[in-house]
Amino acid sequence: MVSRIIPVEAFDLVIFGGTGDLARRKILPGLFRRYCAGQMPDGARVIGAARSDMDAAGYKDMVADAIREFGGGRSCEDGTLDAFLDRLHYVAIDARGETGWSELTDLMRDSVQVRAYYFSVAPSLFGDLAERLHSHGLADDQSRIVVEKPFGRDLQTARALNASLAEHFDESQIYRIDHYLGKETVQNLMAVRFGNTLFEPLWNAQYVDHIQITVAETVGVGGRGEYYDKSGAMRDMVQNHLMQLLCLIAMEPPAKFDPGAVRDEKLKVIRALDKVEPHHIVRGQYAAGPDNPDFREAVGDARSKTESFVAMKVGISNWRWAGIPFYLRTGKRMSARSSEITVVFKARNHSIFEEDGEDHRNVLSIRLQPNEGITMKVTIKEPGPGGMRLVDVPLDMSFAEALGEDGGDPPDAYERLIMDVIRGNQTLFMRGDEVEAAWAWTDPIIDGWTARGDVPKPYDSGSNGPTDADQLLARDGRIWREVRP
Ligand code: NAD
Repeated sequence: MVSRIIPVEAFDLVIFGGTGDLARRKILPGLFRRYCAGQMPDGARVIGAARSDMDAAGYKDMVADAIREFGGGRSCEDGTLDAFLDRLHYVAIDARGETGWSELTDLMRDSVQVRAYYFSVAPSLFGDLAERLHSHGLADDQSRIVVEKPFGRDLQTARALNASLAEHFDESQIYRIDHYLGKETVQNLMAVRFGNTLFEPLWNAQYVDHIQITVAETVGVGGRGEYYDKSGAMRDMVQNHLMQLLCLIAMEPPAKFDPGAVRDEKLKVIRALDKVEPHHIVRGQYAAGPDNPDFREAVGDARSKTESFVAMKVGISNWRWAGIPFYLRTGKRMSARSSEITVVFKARNHSIFEEDGEDHRNVLSIRLQPNEGITMKVTIKEPGPGGMRLVDVPLDMSFAEALGEDGGDPPDAYERLIMDVIRGNQTLFMRGDEVEAAWAWTDPIIDGWTARGDVPKPYDSGSNGPTDADQLLARDGRIWREVRP
């Protein structure tokens, strides 16, 4: 398997929040890996810009430590790390004041290359940064901004944020990151659907029984308690990540694989989502486990009504999907870390074989993490004598096994998305209207909980949510897929 790395133009990437957790864990180690892969052309620069008062040498030390800790052990020839560090600059800056802006402007003055500004800071600073980039003459046609989640906390705040960015940047310059879209398997989902003749004819209400999307985490709220208590699983996971996965699995084939066409089709899915009835949603809050406090203690609010788990049944009112349930669930402190989309096909309408009490149906599983890959369950004859006995076996396409080293160690989602920003490809980024449509669907659900004073059901840490979540499917004669590590 020959790796085909597409070169990018030289660029200047300014990371606002370049000393923060996200920059240290994901962005900088990701850039280093791209550097090792030969994707950082001569002249490309990375400029950390954050509040800490440090010099370039101090920043390089911090980045070197971050790469050693979070670089995933990617071996790089001796001296490569130093060569990468030579590309780094640092500016101590205040998004809300004047400190540092003239230094940044000086650094960028003669830049003739692609200029990307990564807003890896609290969302409350996004508008300030856009405003100051503009007032210092840094927001020109050649510049792009990358905006982290959360993008608003409801429709009103998302609209306000879109409006404040739009004052200084055109939509074509705004890259709203959802790192789920950068995952190899998520893009493979589109390749499988639209690159084969096999699946698309079956991808509809006539042949699909239902679809499940599970994003399960084993961790709790960790150090993000204060933020998470104001957010909850619905805002933190469903409105963005699960919604994006739902769009990709349910959308109509776009005419072309280009940003406008793909994002138009995703938007149509969100607009076709049914209003979710309260009895089609289950909220949960994790109880204490052997090694962890309960949710309320973790967020520091003994009366918190925020959900750490949500499961729901969602319908899409369009020709392709009418009547087919999509079951979504996500939560913290679940039994395993696992993200999977499963398409369960309908049973055969007639069997020529003797019934054996088994539910032989095709199931397509698209696994996002860990062990990215796609599995198709098919029914075959059990080998050996003794008549025709049926057995279900997986047709397994583990990327690591099928594609060798390159496929087994694909770029991390952040690496891929940053390179897409440099290339100017917005396909895997959320458009402003998509984000607003997702909030317009999510808001009434959250408002309903608030109005009813809804209290999430407790569930055991290490389980897969409250038993009501199982009931949600049992009522329809279905069961959740096992959450496999
Ligand atoms: P953090 O608190 O670790 O870092 C914040 C950074 O912002 C620091 O570099 C700090 O110096 C800088 N900063 C703070 N105030 C500033 C100001 N006035 N002017 C200039 N710089 C200032 O935060 P984080 O965890 O790195 O998160 C950054 C953003 O990424 C947030 O929007 C967060 O929601 C989002 N995000 C983070 C993660 C994650 O895993 N950490 C995941 C998804 C999204």
